[in-house]
Amino acid sequence: MNKAKRAAVIAGNWKMNKSRAEAKALVEELRPLVENAGCGVVVCTPYLDIETAVKAAEGSNIKVGAQNCHWADHGAFTGEIPAEMLREAGAEYVIIGHSERRQYFGETDETVNKRTRAALDAGLRVILCCGELLGERQQNIMEEVVGRQIKVALLGVSKEEMKNIIIAYEPVWAIGTGVTATADQAEEACAFIRGLIAKLYGKETAEATTVQYGGSMNAKNAGELLSKEDVDGGLIGGASLKAPDFAAIVAAAGK
Ligand code: PEP
Repeated sequence: MNKAKRAAVIAGNWKMNKSRAEAKALVEELRPLVENAGCGVVVCTPYLDIETAVKAAEGSNIKVGAQNCHWADHGAFTGEIPAEMLREAGAEYVIIGHSERRQYFGETDETVNKRTRAALDAGLRVILCCGELLGERQQNIMEEVVGRQIKVALLGVSKEEMKNIIIAYEPVWAIGTGVTATADQAEEACAFIRGLIAKLYGKETAEATTVQYGGSMNAKNAGELLSKEDVDGGLIGGASLKAPDFAAIVAAAGK
């Protein structure tokens, strides 16, 4: 496996934070700090911030994403947003299957698969989240859980479409808790995921697929996590809300 063969991507997940004015200010502050980034830089904003963030990022290397999308292209789905509307607003990426969606909004592996398909069909790049609960890690079934999540999420996704898929390994016990997986735990899981992609799509696709780690990654621990062979970037929650912190992680990924 060769890390140089794939793009490192640092993506911020702003979750339900930042007004439009704050979104504009954050992207404007970020622009000069990441202009020489040696990796992809993405900010996934609340829906209503997307157009503001796209405008503020115009002419820069910052890409904008959403945090979810529905699987239908239109219809009676009150409160939902189709992938095509995200595209229309200027989003290029979308996070699918985040553990907070699974935990609080009844997201299942099956709906993650449907949303992934819809996002790909609309021309979005998908940041596909997977990860085990604390109890599942303690029972030593991380591979079983993550393996099932990925296999179901990727049903009907072709080898060709895999170039638009980023996989984010996010152990649920590490998200927003301040508890980070050790670099070895992150590497073990990301390497397992790459091995699974190799089984599903072949070695070449596996080597080209970006596999991120997410879970309390910050300016201090990013360097060690990102130095691992199979960790190709990060999905960053809390630390993406302040430009200097996020930029420090971007800098660590570019090394
Ligand atoms: C996330 O929301 O995907 C995440 C990793 O959050 P945090 O960095 O705050 O743990």
